[in-house]
Amino acid sequence: MAGWFKIDLWKRVIAALVVGLAVGLGLRYGMGAEAGGAFAETWIKWIGDLFLRLIRMLIVPLVFFTLVSGIIAMGDPKRLGSLGARTLGTYLGTTAIAVTLGLIMATIFQPGASLTPDTFANADGSGLEDARARADAAGGLVDRLLNIVPTNPIEALASGNILQIIFFAIMLGVGILMAGKIAEPVAKWFDGASEAMMKVTIIVMETAPIGVFGLMATVMATKGLGVLQSLGTLAIALYLACVLHMIFTYGFGIIKGVLGLPVLAFFRGITDAQAVAYSTASSSATLPVTITCAEENLGVDKAVAGSVLPLGATINMDGTAIYIGMVALFGAQAMGIEVTLSQYVLVAVMATLVSIGAAGIPSAGLLLSGAALTQVGIPEAQAALIIGFILPFDRLLDMMRTMTNVTGDAAVATAVAKWEGELDEGVFRADDNLSAHVDDREKPVPS
Ligand code: ASP
Repeated sequence: MAGWFKIDLWKRVIAALVVGLAVGLGLRYGMGAEAGGAFAETWIKWIGDLFLRLIRMLIVPLVFFTLVSGIIAMGDPKRLGSLGARTLGTYLGTTAIAVTLGLIMATIFQPGASLTPDTFANADGSGLEDARARADAAGGLVDRLLNIVPTNPIEALASGNILQIIFFAIMLGVGILMAGKIAEPVAKWFDGASEAMMKVTIIVMETAPIGVFGLMATVMATKGLGVLQSLGTLAIALYLACVLHMIFTYGFGIIKGVLGLPVLAFFRGITDAQAVAYSTASSSATLPVTITCAEENLGVDKAVAGSVLPLGATINMDGTAIYIGMVALFGAQAMGIEVTLSQYVLVAVMATLVSIGAAGIPSAGLLLSGAALTQVGIPEAQAALIIGFILPFDRLLDMMRTMTNVTGDAAVATAVAKWEGELDEGVFRADDNLSAHVDDREKPVPS
C-alpha cells in the first residue's frame, strides 16, 4: 500500500484511466452496449459519483478561502512595496488577453460540439432542461451584473453562488487589509484556512485514481470511444492558445514590444523553469527554479524577483484563465446552450478572478472551473460531471497551462525590473550569445 502512494499521483491517475478505459470498453463490447452499460450503471457508477461528490464538496470553501487569502497576499506591503500597482496592472492586463484568446480558440475549435447533451444528463435524463431554463432565466446584462452583489453572503455561500462568493471574498479581503493591525489575526486565520483547504484538496486528489477508474469505465461502457474526440480537440485548442499567448503576448508583446529586449534570450533564460513547470504541473513547486532563472539568466534584481515571482505564482495564472474560459464554453457546447455576449463577458471576468484565486497546485484550475460552468447556466451537478469527464485527462492540459503561468510570472518580473531600473541587461542579453542554462552562469558576460 505504501508503495502505491510513492508513485506520482499523475502516474496513478493515468494507470487508472487506462484500466477504466479497458474495463468500460470490455463491458460494452463483451456484454453488448445495453447490458454492458446497465452493468456499469449498477456496479461501477457509484465509485465515480462518490468522487464527484468529494470534488463538489471542495469548490465553495476552496474558492472562498483561497481568494480571500489571495487578496490579502496582494496587499502585503512586504511582498509588494512600491512595485505594487505596476505589477498588479501587468498581471491583470496579460490575464485579460489570455482569457480572450482562450474564448476565441474555444469558439473556433468547438471542443464540446461533438458531445451530445445526454453525456452529462442525470441518470433519469433530467438536468438538461434545467440547464437551458437557468440560462434563459438569468436575464439581461444589467440583471446579471446586479446579481453579482449578494444581499446575504451567507446565503451565497450556502447556495454555492460562485460569482457572489467571489464578490464577497474580494470585499472581505480588502476590508481585512484596510483594517490593518487589528485584523491581522483574521488575515492569519484566512491564510491558515486556505492552506488547510489546499490540504483537503490534496487528500481528495489522492482518491482520484479510484474515482477516475469509476468515471472512465462508466463513460466508456455507456457511451463508447466516440466521446474522446472532444477531449482531443480541447487539448489542441488549449495548447495552441497557450503557445500563442507565450510567443505573442509575453515574447513579442512585453519582452520585445514594451521592453525592447531580445525574445529568444528570454525564452532561453527560462527554459529550466518551463521544463520544471511542465513536468510538475505546479507553479508553487516551480517557484525556486523560476526565481533562479529570473535572477541568474534574465538579470532580474533579487528584491524584485523575490517579491514579484512569489506573488505571481499565487495570483498570476494566464494558462489557468485560458483554460477556465475554455471549459465553460466546452460545457455549454456539450449541453447545447447558446452563450450570449453578456455571458461571454461574465465568463471572462469569472475566469480572471478564479485564476487569481487558484492555488499553484496540480488540477486547481479544473476544480475551480465549476465556477465558470455554472456561469453559462449549467447546474452544479452537471458541472461536476463535466469536471469528472475531463479530469482523467487533466494532467496533460495542466502541464501546459502551468508552463504558461510560470512564463507569465517571469515576463512580468522582467518588465517590473526594467521599469524600476533593476534589470541587468548585460546578463539578459548575454544569453544571446551563451547557453542559458542555470549552471552556465559562471561564464564571462560580454557587455
Ligand atoms: N496547476 C496550475 C499551476 O500550478 C494551476 C491549474 O491547475 O491551472 O499553475
